[in-house]
Amino acid sequence: MSLAAPARALIQPGAEEALILLKGVWKVFKMPSGTFEALKNINLSIRAGEFVSVTGKSGSGKSTLVNMITGIDRPTRGEVRVNGTLLNTLSEGALSVWRGHNLGIVFQFFQLLPMLSVLENVMLPMDFCNRYDPAERESRAMDLLKMVGLEKVAHKLPAALSGGQQQCAAIARALANDPPILVADEPTGNLDSRTAAHVMAIFTDLVAHGKTLVMVTHDLSLAQQAHRVLVISDGELIHPAIVATWPHLSHAAMRHLNRHLHDLRLPPGAELPPSRGVLVLEGSLQPGTTRPRPRLHLEPLAAGAWHLFERPEEAGHFRAGPEGAWVLRWDESAWERLRQDAPDVVTTLQSHRGGQA
Ligand code: ADP
Ligand code: MG
Repeated sequence: MSLAAPARALIQPGAEEALILLKGVWKVFKMPSGTFEALKNINLSIRAGEFVSVTGKSGSGKSTLVNMITGIDRPTRGEVRVNGTLLNTLSEGALSVWRGHNLGIVFQFFQLLPMLSVLENVMLPMDFCNRYDPAERESRAMDLLKMVGLEKVAHKLPAALSGGQQQCAAIARALANDPPILVADEPTGNLDSRTAAHVMAIFTDLVAHGKTLVMVTHDLSLAQQAHRVLVISDGELIHPAIVATWPHLSHAAMRHLNRHLHDLRLPPGAELPPSRGVLVLEGSLQPGTTRPRPRLHLEPLAAGAWHLFERPEEAGHFRAGPEGAWVLRWDESAWERLRQDAPDVVTTLQSHRGGQA
């Protein structure tokens, strides 16, 4: 087996590379009936130019997560840093000015102002931000409307447009101040599939021209068009390697694997500690030369490969390769908890025993 380069989606970009960075973010809503943890210790980094989709069941925390990035909502604990600015400490006023320069937001229900023409809707954020000269705002707005195919209806009121056209106008409005980042929360949730495809084509083109896009969607086929698919389940962000390696597991199953994993970096030559399961993120694991048991797996495990051990001590037969190894591992007690919480996950994984992402 060759030591292939790791699939990008197995690991997140490092903090130093991140345009969007969430560190230890919790969101706890207080309600009369008690507290509710909508986000649980989210660690997330997104690099400039990435197209990232956010998927998960209704109520899993997708909107709450993107509202942290836009500053529409604030974390209860943790840090949110976007394009170099720590959002936690900004006042509401400072936040809306910051947002105007840095982010375009697209919502499921368009949210155009009904009394203004489509063109005026697109010009409004320019008037708020004052980034472009007043004399050039109208022609800039018209150019954006041309880009989304709406120049012919620029002077109409939003109500005269179809849903798809209104969403395209909302995208033009989000681009008014040429922000580096676009955040879209279920942008196609209210559109038929043909119109949704048109919106996706606009998004893909924007990403090709350097925009960073974070898009929440229910639709898995749309989510797959992104560079990276995030899965959020009951307020937990599933480790990207779990999503990439076992995309067909249920979200509940992914959550169980996520909860019980250990993240470990091994220096070159270091022995893998006793484990029931291991997934290699970076580097490789090399087997020893002796075979303590006739049927023991003796192939090297390259980045992207995973393996289950019948007995935890058998893991010690593997050592990190010359470049070291970065692995996720599940030890005996993690495996036991997994077996209790989600016996189906264990059975599914055991039926494969090992593989390559
Ligand atoms: P999604 O977008 O994935 O459907 P949300 O992020 O909107 O989910 O909500 C996640 C959970 O947080 C839901 O259970 C929701 O009821 C709860 N929630 C969201 N906003 C509030 C709020 N302002 N107060 C109380 N609970 C909230
Ligand atoms: Mg939502």
